Amino acid sequence: MSTRAPLSITMHPADNVAIVANDGGLPAGAVLPGGLVLLDRVPQAHKVALADIPEGGAVRRYNVVIGYALRPIPAGSWVHERLLRMPDARALDGLPVATVRPAPQEPLAGYTFEGYRNADGSVGTRNILAITQTVQCVAGVTAFAVQRIKAELLPRYPHVDDVVALEHGYGCGVAIDAPDAVVPIRTLRNISLNPNFGGELMVVSLGCEKLQPERLLPPGSIPLVDERNVADVGASADSVLDVVCLQDEAHVGFMSMVESIMRQAEEHLERLNARRRETVPASELVVGVQCGGSDAFSGVTANPALGFASDLLVRAGATVMFSEVTEVRDAIHLLTPRAATEQVARDLIREMAWYDDYLDKGGVDRSANTTPGNKKGGLANIVEKALGSSAKSGSSAIAGVLAPGERVKDKGLIFAATPASDFVCGTLQLASGMNVHIFTTGRGTPYGLSSVPVIKVATRNELAARWSDLIDLNAGTIATGEATIEEVGWELFRLILDVASGRTKTCTDKWGLYNSLALFNPAPIT
Ligand code: CA
Repeated sequence: MSTRAPLSITMHPADNVAIVANDGGLPAGAVLPGGLVLLDRVPQAHKVALADIPEGGAVRRYNVVIGYALRPIPAGSWVHERLLRMPDARALDGLPVATVRPAPQEPLAGYTFEGYRNADGSVGTRNILAITQTVQCVAGVTAFAVQRIKAELLPRYPHVDDVVALEHGYGCGVAIDAPDAVVPIRTLRNISLNPNFGGELMVVSLGCEKLQPERLLPPGSIPLVDERNVADVGASADSVLDVVCLQDEAHVGFMSMVESIMRQAEEHLERLNARRRETVPASELVVGVQCGGSDAFSGVTANPALGFASDLLVRAGATVMFSEVTEVRDAIHLLTPRAATEQVARDLIREMAWYDDYLDKGGVDRSANTTPGNKKGGLANIVEKALGSSAKSGSSAIAGVLAPGERVKDKGLIFAATPASDFVCGTLQLASGMNVHIFTTGRGTPYGLSSVPVIKVATRNELAARWSDLIDLNAGTIATGEATIEEVGWELFRLILDVASGRTKTCTDKWGLYNSLALFNPAPIT
């Protein structure tokens, strides 16, 4: 690939920078197709000035100002982040509100997948027993029990995919009545209600913790509790909640706790094992999209292809959630016009303002987002990163907004507000009810989740080749002209249906590479 003719990619005719597409970059003296001669060596995915830019002049990519030149930049120069001053954050008042309202696109009928229907109407893509925990104190005991469940019980229940302990760092030693404690509490509650767990709620509690089981899962918050159980035992719904309490006096010693967890788990495994996949419309998909380890190709290849697939999913009637507040903050003026209603636009602005305030309290702003790897990958700053990141949302109207950890109810394109942190975003999208996760990456990350399949899309051919056993789909072919955004978008759409159906295993599922849950807790620790 490095022997190919010099290749650069310009995102918009008004741009005065392009990025170098060639693997390994291009040397000084290389001549671009338009005749421009490079004055510097320009690494792959980094920017080259297409025209002379005066000191203080605007540097435009995606037809948006991504920075101002700190000194004169002659045409053909490498435009790296040390040459640019970042623009100020866009004000949140005076934004265009629901001015575009994209017309609904032509419905896409006839696409289906094989999923597990749940009593509450949601559909799972996996059949997993999840063990909810009220507090970190019980994590060791639960992990020990899960190890034994997997070794001794799971082989007898072949239709159950896995047993997952929902370990986390919350539950005690926290200001549980602080207003923002609502975020970690509802996140844990809604994760335990994820469609992939089939409504089989099982809780391990310590006993003395602040987050008591009835606070985590109060009666009425549990739509999945099977009515038949209530009838069977003649009890009310709240007493159906299955809790193993380690401090219960009935437990004499550690093994008594482990056996109690195993005994309870077996009841749930029996019911889960009776479930079978059935053909359901693609509209039952709830796809969470995010990116991580991004580079300047993210906004050129993988994210636009994912945006195209998002549009296909929305046309098929599915739900698509995009997130990562600090990575859409600098593209907010492009999102509020796409809101389906004025209320949706106001909700978007509310989430941006909440996050501005959260960062401000910590003495930083949205520029704290970018990583050394982003910059090495050619992204000068958060403005440039945001323009690429928001491409994942495609072009549909934005139908709704969720605060962090809220459960999604609507179909269509939804903004689920989360931090951009990969593991925190994934954890919150899990709470919002996603049943497939799409993750684009330019630098590469082995990120995975045990509860929901994660499809990883590479932005560059070189990464896809080097990490061929960790990347599920290569979008780098878009940069080299071997494939179009539409072709890769369709390929991803079909892969989502195959993975959701259990026909195709993702790389992280093949290897069992799973990250911990990472709760977003904006409230104080005590
Ligand atoms: Ca991310």
